[in-house]
Amino acid sequence: MNGMADTSKWTECMSVVRDILSPEQYRIWFEPIKAVSLEGMDLTIEVPSEFFREYIEEHFIDLLGRTLKRVIGPQVRLIYNVRVTKDSTVTYPANGKKDLRNPEVPIPAEQVISSISDPYVIPGLQRLNIDPNLNPIYTFDNFIQGSCNILARAAGLQIAEKPGNTSFNPLFVFGGPGLGKTHLAQAIGIAVKDRHPEQVVLYVTANQFVSQFIDAVTVKNKLNDFIHYYQSIDTLIIDDIHEFAEKKGSQNALFQIFNHLHQLGKQLILTSDRSPVELQGLETRLLSRFKWGLTTELTVPDYETRISILESKSFREGITLPAEVIDFLAQKVTGNVRELEGALVSLMANATLTHKKISLSLAEELIGKIVHVPKNDISITRIKKTVCSYFNITDEILLSNTRKREVVQARQIAMYLSRSLTSTSLDSIGAQIGGKNHATVLYACNTVCDLMDTDKSFRQYLSDIERILKTDTTL
Ligand code: ADP
Ligand code: MG
Repeated sequence: MNGMADTSKWTECMSVVRDILSPEQYRIWFEPIKAVSLEGMDLTIEVPSEFFREYIEEHFIDLLGRTLKRVIGPQVRLIYNVRVTKDSTVTYPANGKKDLRNPEVPIPAEQVISSISDPYVIPGLQRLNIDPNLNPIYTFDNFIQGSCNILARAAGLQIAEKPGNTSFNPLFVFGGPGLGKTHLAQAIGIAVKDRHPEQVVLYVTANQFVSQFIDAVTVKNKLNDFIHYYQSIDTLIIDDIHEFAEKKGSQNALFQIFNHLHQLGKQLILTSDRSPVELQGLETRLLSRFKWGLTTELTVPDYETRISILESKSFREGITLPAEVIDFLAQKVTGNVRELEGALVSLMANATLTHKKISLSLAEELIGKIVHVPKNDISITRIKKTVCSYFNITDEILLSNTRKREVVQARQIAMYLSRSLTSTSLDSIGAQIGGKNHATVLYACNTVCDLMDTDKSFRQYLSDIERILKTDTTL
């Protein structure tokens, strides 16, 4: 063995490789490699894991092979020593489809000879066979378009055409429960896979990601594999990222993965139940990256969209609902799409069980049981009306740009109450109260909180208005 010579030849190769790859690629995939020995034409290198070896074979072997042949000689053979531990079985994702390691490998090192020794044979490694974790029922075909989702849906369709290659990277979709975030995210994944079968697509929930991360840190040497695994994805979808709140380690891993993928032009799709500004417990450096692409909200579907959704769902169930029943459900079930589906399913089940036909009277009879119809539903419209009548100003004045103190206060109170009594997002509150942005709404909420602490008469206004809102439904 000739320790000095190996290292110098390897270093020479690395200086070539470094020039060709991006600094990030070089840092991640080549810096951790150690040259072990060069005996004759056999160059032995040590890589941190089996996954690492597979990745290099798959992505860089051409480059590496050509370089080694030039620097060391055409007969060169590359031998990998894979650093292993006995328990280094890597099974990602949680569904256990892909076992990257054979646990029976010898310790401490496993040797694998690279396929570059035969110049005519393309490395036999297949593309990593990652189960994308997609549910075929969530397609674009049955994701009904409406004003509530038009932008998000259009962005999703474009991403499906050119994943990683649109200005929607990352695509950040947020909205309340049951508004279609998972459906849309999955539909994008399915469409990407459909149009680009060679793409490695992966859908995970933030919770799955977090538990895989915890698994990886508790077993020695698995963290690298975890990160590399995610860094090998072409289109990565992470659902419900608000679940990352306060999970520092997972956020850190996500940060590394995000940077790597984004830099390589890979597509990221994230969903959350609130907008980035409201994501408490997430690091600013992550939040700022979420805003690099497109942030778009899914809102509650309007009446027309509710009708289309009901028509489409009943059609798929193979039943025809009388128009008046569809209209009735669309009028009464206004919360979110999941409730709308629930109402439809209960109605169908009930009709089957009782051998009744689905009719308006059956729907009326059941509606109280199948959906929670709030008696005193507080909407932003009601809040605005109540605030205006309390301060004796008109709607126009409330929504105008005037900086008069009373009006500014009334506006801030309306924003604060919208925030605390409805589940509307900051952006949407701002849009409905004078066309302001989320920052103005956030500022208003903070001001109101401060004033409540310090100003007694202000506190009185607020409790009056809240009482009226909660008791008087004539407004
Ligand atoms: P979220 O992830 O936002 O909580 P989901 O994506 O799980 O919501 O949607 C709840 C249900 O509503 C799902 O069954 C989904 O198929 C359906 N749904 C949501 N939006 C639409 C839509 N635009 N068209 C058709 N079905 C929808
Ligand atoms: Mg969901």
